[in-house]
Formats: sequence, C-alpha cells, structure tokens
Amino acid sequence: MEFISTRGQVEKIGFLDAVLMGLADDGGLLIPNEIPQLSPARLQELEQLSYQDLAYEIFSLYIGNDIPAEDLKQLIQESYATFRDPQVTPVRKLKDNLFILELFHGPTFAFKDIALQFLGNLYAYISKKQNEIIHILGATSGDTGASAIEGVRGKEGIRICILHPHQKVSEVQELQMTTVRDENVLNLSVKGTFDDCQRIIKDLFADTTFKNDYHLRAINSINFARILAQTVYYFYAYFQIKNEIGERKVNFSVPTGNFGDIFAGFLAKKMGLPINKLILATNENNILERFIKDGVYKPGQFHSTYSPSMDIQVASNFERYLYYLLDEDAERIASLMNQFNKEGHITVDEQALQKVQAMFAAHGVVGEECLQTIRSYHEENDYLLDPHTACGVAAYEACSPADEVCVTLSTAHPAKFNESIERCEIEQSFPGQIERLFDQPKFQEVVDNDQDIIAERLKPFFTAQR
Ligand SMILES: *Cc1c(COP(=O)(O)O)cnc(C)c1O
Repeated sequence: MEFISTRGQVEKIGFLDAVLMGLADDGGLLIPNEIPQLSPARLQELEQLSYQDLAYEIFSLYIGNDIPAEDLKQLIQESYATFRDPQVTPVRKLKDNLFILELFHGPTFAFKDIALQFLGNLYAYISKKQNEIIHILGATSGDTGASAIEGVRGKEGIRICILHPHQKVSEVQELQMTTVRDENVLNLSVKGTFDDCQRIIKDLFADTTFKNDYHLRAINSINFARILAQTVYYFYAYFQIKNEIGERKVNFSVPTGNFGDIFAGFLAKKMGLPINKLILATNENNILERFIKDGVYKPGQFHSTYSPSMDIQVASNFERYLYYLLDEDAERIASLMNQFNKEGHITVDEQALQKVQAMFAAHGVVGEECLQTIRSYHEENDYLLDPHTACGVAAYEACSPADEVCVTLSTAHPAKFNESIERCEIEQSFPGQIERLFDQPKFQEVVDNDQDIIAERLKPFFTAQR
C-alpha cells in the first residue's frame, strides 16, 4: 500500500515512511492511495478472530510487505499483552439498543493506548531495524501524552517530549505523564490551551528543516498508524454484537475532539463494515457539531468543560475527511486549507452538506447534561460512565432512533476524571495503578506559550549525549 498527501504534493511512500513522516511534507495529511475493500464474505471470515488476529488481518492490508508477517504478529502481540481484559476491547450491553465498547483497559486507562502501545513498539522496531533516531514530539489534551509516554518510556533509541496545556488536564492525567522518571521523557506544561500546543507542534513539524535536523516523529493522530489501529475495534465490536441484533441498523457514537477516532470509523465504513451512522459526540467546543449541522467549519470560543480531552477547537484530522467529502481533489483541499488559514473558516455547499448528513449525526452536550447523564446511568444501569463517554451516551439518546442499535465508544475509565465524577456526588474507588500515582514526585517544566522558546528548549533535549 502506498500513501499520498491530502494536498497532493508528496511522492507516494510506503507505510513505514508514512509513519516516520507524520505530517505530510506539504503540510497535508497522509492517507492511503486507495482504501482496501472487504466483501461481506471476507467480513464473515474475520468474525471469529481474536482481537490480535483481526488486527493483524486489517493492518496487513495497509502495511503490505513493509513489515514481515512474523514481525508484525509479534508487534501486535506485545502491544495488546499490556491490556487488562483478554478481549482487549470488550463490549457491554446496557440496554436493548445500547452497547458500550470499553476502550480503556490499557495501561493508562484511555483508548489512546490501543494505538499508542502499537505505535510505541513500532517506533522501537524501526529504531532497531533501520537504525533510525526517533525523537517524538507531541501535544496532548491529557490522554495522548500519558499513553505515548507509557508506550516508549525507557526504550532505547527513543526520546519523547510532550506539550500539555498548563492546569487544563485532569489530576490523574497530569500524574500519569509527570511521575515518569525515565530520562528519555520531557514534559512541557504550556501556559495556553491544547489548541496552542497543537499549533506549535504543527508549525514545528511544518518547518521541515527543523523536523529533519532533530529527527522529529509524530504520535498525534495526524500519524496514520494511529487511525489504522483504531479501525480494528469498530470491526471487532460489530462482530461481537452482530448475532444478537438481528436486522437492526448499527450506529456508532464517538466522543470526538481531534476527529481521529471517528475518522477511523469512517475508514472502517469505507472498507465495507455496515455502519449506518457515525454519531459525533462533543461538548461545548462544538465546531464539528456545527459543521455537521450547517456545513460551516469555524473555530469558536474555547470552553473548559467536564470532558477536557475533548476541549479542542481545531480538529487536526478533519482535513482527511474533507478530502474524501470533496471527491479526493487534492488541489481543492490545498486551496481550501490555505483559505482556512487566512480567513478562519470553511463552508461547503448544499450538495456536500447532504453527503455529510447522510453519514453523520451530531450532538454536543451543554451545561449539566454531561453530569446528568453520568448520574442517571449510574442510578438506572449501575454503570459509571466517564465524562467523555457520557457525551457519547447523550449523543446516542439525541441521535440514535429507538429501533436502531448504537455502540457508544467508551474512551476513558472514570477514575481518570474524578473531578467530574465528584461533581455528580458519586464516590468511586481507584484502580491500584492510579491510586499509586498520588504520592509520587512530578517532573515537568512550565513554559510560555511561545514557539521559539519551546524550539530552543527542545534542541538540548534532543541533542544531549545518550
Ligand atoms: C482523545 C480523546 C477523545 C477524542 O478523540 P479524537 O480522536 O481526538 O477525536 C475522546 N475521549 C477521550 C477520553 C480522549 O482521550
């Protein structure tokens, strides 16, 4: 499989080169040259596979000969051996038409582990096989940082620096990132929002000289490997519930920030998985909800909410979707993104909007709706939702018709967001792995929201003697 850029100015490259490139050199996002198709007969063959075997089959379609089969199998085994549930991503039934896809059984209790355990191992593999220097630079609204650090801490040949918004991540998220002692880890706490962190990273990666001089590699969901790893559980969940739901249509409700997870669902649908609608769940940072309803993509005012991992205005994966929406016309995407950078908005026409609405529904929680959803499912279903998953469940209630089935992605364990759970007057007990973090020293540097200052801080970290 070869990869191309949404903006059309990158020569076709293979999977491993696409992983290493991260953001495309022309400022676009890398996507597969064509999307592999799985026929109904082929889907049936995949139904009985374990999570790991299914991952192998799906990954192979995109990785081709870039990684020998035995090596890929081993990478997958190692990546999911760290999960606490033998099914990796089990499905729980909450109601006759509502299933919860639990994606939080990895080491940092958020769905990011599913892709980042794999990507961490993949970077270590590339470092060893190709003698590549791997310097990971990423921005996080909280969970990506913890997961990425966990994926590569202490690994030889790899260094990682993560930017997070100062005092805008949850206590457990901060602890998971900053209590790590390994010398290959640097946490920068930026006096700004996640969008500031993401913009700084994007600009540093867009500076190809800086990127190449310091061997910068991406772990944000601009990296296609993350999207790929996340398509697997859409298939897996569908196969788990298929026999039980009869002829009913299946929707997926996806708590959304950067549009990465839901784009993986879009890709699964394009590959042939019979998903009816993708329901985009969000909070007051509702740029994507507004796009789906009105066809206007325009960042608004930033809000701090009960679901901080989704406090994002500019969704870095949106460009991938736009590419497919606008008939894979790279020239048009390049000029639209240019226009977006200048004017701050993108508007699609009526015909495109109809296409959007045929595939997506959207709901953004406001006010206390998130907490009310947590409370009512705790009381009535004896199930504690984390605040992001609660947005997903609220969106199921708003958008999924009673005679259809909805799988809501549970993107984090509630223990990561006790600030919100406490506001519901619910007391939870912490898993031991989280409980143990509270009395440990934290390692992080607070820095100004300034690209030059951050670039200067990165240079010594990425050039220090090993
Ligand atoms: C990252 C994250 C999201 C948003 O996922 P995207 O791929 O950025 O849309 C939702 N919930 C949680 C808990 C997250 O960590």
